[in-house]
Amino acid sequence: MPLYEYECTSCGKIFTAALSLREHDEKKVICPGCGSKKVEQLITPFIAKTDRKS
Ligand SMILES: [Zn+2]
Repeated sequence: MPLYEYECTSCGKIFTAALSLREHDEKKVICPGCGSKKVEQLITPFIAKTDRKS
């Protein structure tokens, strides 16, 4: 399951949630801190490429 990072716009808490794509599409994400549904997904680029010197 992919991990998504969210920020609650009500209390400012940043949390990660492991969601299936379906759950993600349905936006069933609530803040674990205050229970608000007003959360925004943070775009976290996965920097997996390392600059290898060969
Ligand atoms: Zn919150």
